[in-house]
Amino acid sequence: MLQFQHMKNTKESLVIANWKMNPMTVLDAKNICTTIKATAKKYPHAMIVVAPPTLFMLECKKILGASSVKLGAQTMHQSACGAQTGEIGTGMLTAAGVSFVILGHSERRALGETDAAIGVKVLAALKARLTPVICIGEKERDSQGNFYTHIEAQIKSALTLIPKARFKDVVIAYEPIWAIGTGLTANVDDVYEMKLFIHKVLSKQFDRSAANRVRIIYGGSVTAENATQLYAGGGIDGFLVGGASLKPIEFTKIIAATV
Ligand code: PEP
Repeated sequence: MLQFQHMKNTKESLVIANWKMNPMTVLDAKNICTTIKATAKKYPHAMIVVAPPTLFMLECKKILGASSVKLGAQTMHQSACGAQTGEIGTGMLTAAGVSFVILGHSERRALGETDAAIGVKVLAALKARLTPVICIGEKERDSQGNFYTHIEAQIKSALTLIPKARFKDVVIAYEPIWAIGTGLTANVDDVYEMKLFIHKVLSKQFDRSAANRVRIIYGGSVTAENATQLYAGGGIDGFLVGGASLKPIEFTKIIAATV
């Protein structure tokens, strides 16, 4: 346990705001961005990423400017640009100043995104100099621990196409589906065990030193109340935050918890 806590502390924390299909107006988006930008100055230890809806990206970028807050996308198409109605391409994202992209979120998987498609997108993101935040997680937990097999398969298929040299640029977000937007949170011991398991799978798939460099974050009903305990006890490198990331004061407290 100590070994993993030590490894965690060598990395800057990473806190990602996944706004999903919110807020309703660009004005609200700009207001939230303005507060997050001010927060970032107070917490230089944390790398903060805001992933707004595509429609608000450019306005958010204008506000975030040259601040340390990075811009993220919630999904992408694997092509740079082209004839793909309704999609947004890797080249368009990098040209707009985006540096992170959430891939394989359970809400995208529910719309039909497959493990194989996610693997293709992870490779395309890296080629476009975007950091992929690969979401994995079980629908439910069974007492025999079969859900670990599902988690392992998700990790392997997401990483199958990428060269080892780029491995350090990947972020893994463990998001149990039953915890997303439900107010239910995985308990600290379960998060810690899952972090160890993910690290083991990464070590087997590549090697230990490459695995040590991969950030493993947690998402699923993270709040100002549970963030400190989850971060300290879960051995994780940060959070992927949905609902609470739209409440700037609460989001600030979550960032502060990653000290
Ligand atoms: C998410 O959608 O990635 C998420 C973690 O949502 P919430 O924090 O609202 O559970």
